Amino acid sequence: MRVLLVEDEVHLAEAIRLGLTAENFLVEVAHDGHTGLSKARTGEFDVLVLDIMLPGLSGYRICEALRREKIWTPVLMLTAKDGEYDEADAFDLGADDYLTKPFSYVVLVARLRALVRRGSPARPAVLEAGDLTVNPSAHSATLAGEPLSLTPREFQLLMYLTRRAGDVVSKRDILENVWDINYEGDPNILEVYVGYLRKKLDRGQGQRIETVRGVGYRLLR
Ligand code: CA
Repeated sequence: MRVLLVEDEVHLAEAIRLGLTAENFLVEVAHDGHTGLSKARTGEFDVLVLDIMLPGLSGYRICEALRREKIWTPVLMLTAKDGEYDEADAFDLGADDYLTKPFSYVVLVARLRALVRRGSPARPAVLEAGDLTVNPSAHSATLAGEPLSLTPREFQLLMYLTRRAGDVVSKRDILENVWDINYEGDPNILEVYVGYLRKKLDRGQGQRIETVRGVGYRLLR
């Protein structure tokens, strides 16, 4: 598997390179944003690991530029702090996953393998489920043509469920992807947010987000 790592902290980049090489990844490293983008544009990589704060061009801008050019190589973003906006921004700009520094190599390797396994299907710009639309890049959603007013977290949750519309998604998966891979807080937070979304989505109709007892949730297509 070929990995492009764009990380300006040279020692960290080298440590990650060694760690991934030991796991049989072929690793190429770029230390600034512009070099990273031009290497990523070759499309020769199975997965990209982008730091956010980079000289020249941030990881966000690299990801955004690639997606605009319809290059769908899976992207894992390295975020420096555990901030809601970092995660939300990363996903909005087309990243597939993120890890908060400091992270363990075991987790990094597992996440990269999962991303490569999932592949990089061309994603439509706008996600749809029935009369619901979610536009990740515009950070907007509509229901029956009417704009929905959502908090950042509600938007992330709705986007995650809409990407998997029709499938049952486990609570663990949602917490790990919409909250944090290491989320240790109250798991009831998810029920609370599903409740918020239902209030905004269910306008006198049946529930669009079904509870699948003991498993998780399903957004109806
Ligand atoms: Ca950096």
